[in-house]
Amino acid sequence: MSSLKISVVITFLSLGLISCAQSGHSNSNISQDINDSTWSLKSDSFWKANLSPEQYEILRLKGTESPFSGKWLMHKDSGFYTCAACGNLLFRSDRKFDSECGWPSFDEEIEGNKIKTQIDNSHGMTRLEIMCARCGGHLGHLFDDGPTSTGKRYCVNSLSLNFLPADIHPKSPLYDTLTVGGGCFWCIEAVFEQVNGVVSVQSGYSGGNVPFPSYKDVCTGETKHAEVVQIVYEPSKISLDELFKIFFTVHDPTTPNRQGADEGTQYRSVIFYRDSVQLNTAKSIITDLTVSKVFEDNIVTEVVPFTVFYPADLTHQDYYDNNTNAPYCRMVIRPKLEKLEAVFKNRLKK
Ligand SMILES: [Zn+2]
Repeated sequence: MSSLKISVVITFLSLGLISCAQSGHSNSNISQDINDSTWSLKSDSFWKANLSPEQYEILRLKGTESPFSGKWLMHKDSGFYTCAACGNLLFRSDRKFDSECGWPSFDEEIEGNKIKTQIDNSHGMTRLEIMCARCGGHLGHLFDDGPTSTGKRYCVNSLSLNFLPADIHPKSPLYDTLTVGGGCFWCIEAVFEQVNGVVSVQSGYSGGNVPFPSYKDVCTGETKHAEVVQIVYEPSKISLDELFKIFFTVHDPTTPNRQGADEGTQYRSVIFYRDSVQLNTAKSIITDLTVSKVFEDNIVTEVVPFTVFYPADLTHQDYYDNNTNAPYCRMVIRPKLEKLEAVFKNRLKK
């Protein structure tokens, strides 16, 4: 335990007092990315610069792609379809059906008023247009001729959609998945992205009672969700034990519902175990840390069964890489990465 003790001790040097949620609402650069209302204010030149010409034609000029041409038409993977313009979660893959109309079709949208509608009288028809409620991007049309119990058919352009896989690599002898929360997910994601043997890290929410919450919902603390990361890793390259050691090194497991200036139940320290191996390994590490008195205060990390993971919008994925110079990244995340490098240098990707 001595190397872990050293690593943990040197980690809790000052990490700054800027908070994650605070920075999201007070810093203009970040708030443009995560505050829903600013998406509707984006300029035409922003969209021209950030969408492909084909996507711009559909999403901003309300075009329609040729039938049977879109990349998601026959797509069957399990996961979530998001707005290609702003990352808003729109549809679950299990609500997709083959309508034979030539465009991806869904019989239900994700809860939370993420789609808005308006009457469209173009082309000599009266139809109900569907748009992303956040950025206003044109998606397609909604019809009342669906074959399932909802009676709905959301007919959507593939070019208006992106896809977030539910579990990039389901549990197999080659891969395993771990879901943990240690405060702001921007931080924990940035840390585990560096670790050799980690295949993917996705930011999202677990442990609450609201399906498909938005970032804003979770920031209220009322959803009971924790900000978490879902880590897919190769056990042949990095052990569960080592992943937990990194986890306990880069966050403070002794502060209830708080990490530094980030305060609220969404920032609680938590391990969502998927099986008895994860449960027993987590308990064993917590016992070791307690017996060896690595921390002055009691460890408050919750160890609870995993139920469901809701991915956060694309704006929260790879947050550090995409916002390296934002104040929160410079003052809070970078010091954690520097300490990770100092302690676990031989475990990091080259
Ligand atoms: Zn959108």
